[in-house]
This record gives sequence, structure tokens and C-alpha cells, in this order.
Amino acid sequence: MGKAYDYLIVGSGLFGAVFAHEAKKKEKKCLVIDKRNHTGGNIYCENVKGINVHKYGAHIFHTNDKHIWDYVNSFVEFNRYTNSPLAVFEDEMYNLPFNMNTFYQLWKVRTPQEVKNKIREQIEASGIKNPQNLQEQAISLVGTDIYYKLIKGYTEKQWGRDAKDLPAFIIKRLPVRFTYDNNYFSDKYQGIPIGGYNKLTEGLLKGIEVKTDVDYFEDKAHWDSLAEKLVFTGKIDQYYNYQFGQLEYRSLKFEHQTLDTDNYQGNAVVNYTEREIPYTRIIEHKHFEFGSQPKTVITKEYPEEWNTEKEPYYPINDAKNTEMYKQYEQLAKADSHIVFGGRLAEYKYYDMHQVIGSALKKSKEI
Ligand code: FAD
Ligand code: UDP
Repeated sequence: MGKAYDYLIVGSGLFGAVFAHEAKKKEKKCLVIDKRNHTGGNIYCENVKGINVHKYGAHIFHTNDKHIWDYVNSFVEFNRYTNSPLAVFEDEMYNLPFNMNTFYQLWKVRTPQEVKNKIREQIEASGIKNPQNLQEQAISLVGTDIYYKLIKGYTEKQWGRDAKDLPAFIIKRLPVRFTYDNNYFSDKYQGIPIGGYNKLTEGLLKGIEVKTDVDYFEDKAHWDSLAEKLVFTGKIDQYYNYQFGQLEYRSLKFEHQTLDTDNYQGNAVVNYTEREIPYTRIIEHKHFEFGSQPKTVITKEYPEEWNTEKEPYYPINDAKNTEMYKQYEQLAKADSHIVFGGRLAEYKYYDMHQVIGSALKKSKEI
């Protein structure tokens, strides 16, 4: 006799939810389980005083891919929010990403040519020719002033490591512009779901059986017995019993506060780039949806060392962990009946659109 489900999907985050939705379209029967007490993984929002609070950190959707943009908009309409964070360093405020506004605030120079000259002088003085790590990459992009004021402290508290020990690609996430443009992302499409991210998750999981508060590893044999195939979106090293060692992650602590003011900081995201301030950023959630509620909710984001008791938010894609991941990836390739997907199972610093892209690609094989 066949099993009750075609797919057991471990994890109801974006990867699991998109995969389940696509499988259902192909008339496959899915069971989605999640160890948290809600669906959506890290995009989950909680409504507090009428404000959608991003419980696991600020999430701004952005993509260059029209297909992915149309896909998410088919579940929920997105607003026109554009992320323009500010950075505070020693009580001075700077615009992000690094653009003509930032350069003017730092150096009082107004033309792109003056800025390019200034940055070139600093790069030449540093002597870096072929950047090998985050510090060298950052200095080669924007020079030493910006590196020491806006990058080094933030990066080292975010990752708990010296910037010289971090991979260069992390800093390439941020645009450097010689125009007066504070848009943090260069993608064609950007926004926040009107009414919060839960609407996206609910749309994706509509009509699909879901069980929350269930940890797959507490009764793996039972869950495996229910379905023909497995889609796994948890930690890949845990799936393989840490046989090559534990992959490292960076964790976060979120401190949420409801305040008796309608506007605390005038912007959704304000970064604190000094090493001495223990949090990296303060999020004021109402500004993602242009809210006019009488109160406000803010969240301070404190980076933390990860251990097995804590949530693994960021993979640490340095040389050591990348080598270890490759060994797990080989096992996964041999287990071709299991789909490993998402930030934890693919051990990649994926944004939401990339997770959706990966889930759509892998679900094509159904
Ligand atoms: P997750 O959302 O982590 O989902 C995995 C799910 O699996 C979780 O719900 C977990 O509980 C469950 N699970 C794990 N193990 C088990 C188990 N053993 N049994 C049962 N369930 C299990 N992306 C952007 O595009 N824009 C942003 O602005 C942005 N900001 C971010 C800010 C922060 C602080 C973080 C951490 C991430 C941010 N991201 C952002 C990335 C985004 O969160 C991810 O790309 C995406 O949500 C990952 O989806 P996922 O399904 O891979 O993983
Ligand atoms: N970063 C920085 N200063 C800032 C913001 C970001 O140095 O004010 C660096 C830091 O190393 C960070 C990386 O840029 O880890 C990527 O930033 P992003 O905002 O993309 O991080 P995420 O939102 O994924 O945490």
C-alpha cells in the first residue's frame, strides 16, 4: 500500500511553502511540519497594536526577476516601500548604501569626480591590489574613511569575527553609487506585502496540511514512514548527524519594544556602526507599511554567537565551513530522493527571492 503523502516537507519557511504549493499544483499530497509554533520561518510577522512586526528581523523583498515578482504578487499585493537605511557613527548620521549623499556627509564634496579622486587616493595609500578578504574588498571599493566609520565595527559585531577573516562577497551585497540615490537595493522590483508577510505564507500553504510545534528529529522514523519523499529545509549537518563536524552559523537576539509614541526614529531601519554599541540596527516596523498607528514597535537586533540552543540565522560561508558543507553536499547528491533546499539546507546566504528561485527550480523536477 502506498504511503499517506507524496511529500513530507520539513520546514514551513519560504522554501518549504513554495515547494508545497508547486507540488500541490501537480496534484501531489504534502504534509508540512515545522518545529516553531507558526508557519513562515523567518518571514513570520506578529501583529502588535495594528503593526506587522517582523519577528525575525527586517525583511524587504527585492528581485530583478519579473517571474518571481509576479509570483509573489499573485498571493499578496506588494507596496512601493524602498529601503533607505541610515547609519549612525559617533552620533553623526549617514545615508546608506554608500552614495553621493554619504560622501557629501563625510567629506563635503559634491561631484562624483571629487569623490572618485578621494576614494582612489585612499585605495592607493592602502596598497591593496588583489582583495582577499572582507576588509581588503571593502577598502578597495570605498576607501579607508568609510571602511573605519561605517563597515568595520558593524561587520565585526555582526559576524563576531575580524573583517580580515570574512569572505569578500558579503560586502559586495551593498551597492556603491556615484549618484544621490539612497535606495539600498539595485533590483528592479522591491516592496513589502500589504498586510504583512503572513499573507504570502498563507497563500502559498492554502489547502495544504501543516503541523506546527513538531521537530522532525524527535521522531524521524515516524515522519519518514508517512511520505514517499522528503523535502528538508533544516540544517543539513544535523540531517547527517554532524558526521563531518558542525557547520557554524551566526545567531541574533531580537529585543522588541512597544513605545508610546507614533514615530520613534523616522525611518524603518537605522544601523549603528560602532563596535561598542551592542546592537547592529533598530527597526521601526510601522514604516514598512507607512503606518499611522498611535503607538510604535521597535526592535533592536543583537548579534550573538550561535550554539545548538539558538536559532541559526546566518551561515558563515568562510573557507573552513565551505569545505565542510561540500562534504555534506556530496552526501545529499547521493540521496537523490531527498530535496535539500533553503538557507539552512543549502548553507547559503540567500535572500527571499533566491530561496523562491531555488524552490521553483527544484520543484520543476516533481
Ligand atoms: P527559514 O525561513 O529559516 O525556514 C526554515 C524552517 O524550517 C523554519 O521555520 C524552521 O523552524 C524549520 N525547521 C528547521 N529544522 C526543523 C526540524 N528539525 N523540524 C521541523 N522544522 C524545522 N531576505 C530578503 O530577501 N530581504 C531581507 O531584507 C532579508 N532580511 C533578513 C534579515 C534577517 C535578520 C535574516 C535572518 C534573514 C533575512 N533575509 C532577508 C533572508 C530570508 O529570511 C531567507 O532568505 C528566507 O526566509 C529563508 O527561507 P527558508 O525557507 O530557507 O528558511
Ligand atoms: N554592512 C556594514 N555596514 C552597514 C551595513 C552593512 O558594514 O551599515 C556590511 C556587513 O558586513 C553586513 C553586510 O554589509 O554583514 C551585508 O549587509 P546587509 O544589510 O545585506 O545584511 P543583512 O540584512 O543580510 O543582515
